Amino acid sequence: MNELLQELYREVIVDHGRRPRNFKKLEPCTHSLEGFNPLCGDKLTVYLTVDNDQIQDVTFEGAGCAISMASASLMTEMLKGQSVEKAHEFFQAFRTLVTQDDAEIDEQQLGKLIALAGVKAYPMRVKCATLAWHTLEGALNNSDDTITTE
Ligand code: ZN
Repeated sequence: MNELLQELYREVIVDHGRRPRNFKKLEPCTHSLEGFNPLCGDKLTVYLTVDNDQIQDVTFEGAGCAISMASASLMTEMLKGQSVEKAHEFFQAFRTLVTQDDAEIDEQQLGKLIALAGVKAYPMRVKCATLAWHTLEGALNNSDDTITTE
């Protein structure tokens, strides 16, 4: 990865980490779930309004490290207005991006999420980056239990 790109990615993470988008409770909502990453202490709640298999709105609130907040922020930006099926696809693609070294990455599909690719080198950070996504999956599957990365 060239330096300019790396710098750009770092800026995306810092920006979204400091000023997370869609950072609010969604009321009323059709789905909500809490996620917790005990290794880092990241804790967030994901809220969704799903109608006819379309994600009308998705927000989150919580507290955690810059990576967890940036990842959740980017996720909400990306998924608003998408179908539930698409959300599952994004989740798979994102998980591949941050866990598999030689994976074929569709940069077009992942958009700004590519900024988080660097966490791959830090297994602890992968949990920070995927927390919001695991929580989203749990919420869409109507899980009642808090999602934990452990
Ligand atoms: Zn974290």
